[in-house]
Amino acid sequence: MRKSFVAGNWKMNTDSRSSVELAKAVVAGSAGLAREKVTVAVIPPFVYLPAVVQAVSSSGVAVGAQDVYFEPKGAFTGEISPGMLKDVGCTYVLCGHSERRHVIGESDELVGKKVTVAIGGGLLPILCVGELLEERDAGKTEQVVARHLKTGLAGLSAEKVAAVTIAYEPVWAIGTGRTATPQQAQEVHAFIRKLLAQMYDANLAREMCIQYGGSVKADNAKELMAQEDVDGLLVGGASLKAEEFVRIIQAAA
Ligand code: PEP
Repeated sequence: MRKSFVAGNWKMNTDSRSSVELAKAVVAGSAGLAREKVTVAVIPPFVYLPAVVQAVSSSGVAVGAQDVYFEPKGAFTGEISPGMLKDVGCTYVLCGHSERRHVIGESDELVGKKVTVAIGGGLLPILCVGELLEERDAGKTEQVVARHLKTGLAGLSAEKVAAVTIAYEPVWAIGTGRTATPQQAQEVHAFIRKLLAQMYDANLAREMCIQYGGSVKADNAKELMAQEDVDGLLVGGASLKAEEFVRIIQAAA
């Protein structure tokens, strides 16, 4: 059985005090939840990673980073390597979040390189895939998701792919308050699982965790999680409010 996985992407929010407060509130709020049922991660800005790692230490709440560079070290001003993320206690890393693809301009190939080096560096990547509104309206959702998936996982063996979580995040639902319906989410999640079975094998596809992300709130989390192929939630805005995020975790557990 697949374990639920809820991650909170704090994006470019919080400060040194509020990041620690939020992390501690998530730890306190989720303390009673069975860890064998749900994995919880918080994903703060880079600069607050060490403080947040310390704030959640020995709680079972994991920490992730919002991005990574594909070189181990050197003259890459402003970039952060997988080794650095590992060194400060990160477990997860987002790769190809839609804000990095569409605001910063990351290519599919760059995202694929990041996924590969993240795994090589001992991190667990969360590969974000998802279509723009005009792509959905043009009937291209599956085409875009398939491209993101194939380029994102390019060159990886089945053994390595097992380390990856897929996050289906329709871009039109991110930060807009417009959530995909549970049926829309399920359709794409089932498509992703079918594609993974074709690319690798049915057993691996059955085991892989596919999160939904896009305006998840405490009051829609349960219905989304009730879908057969929705295994977890990647939460942006609502993860900045500890109480709401904890209610989402409870819904997923
Ligand atoms: C996200 O940042 O991945 C996200 C899904 O954001 P929001 O929940 O705010 O739509």
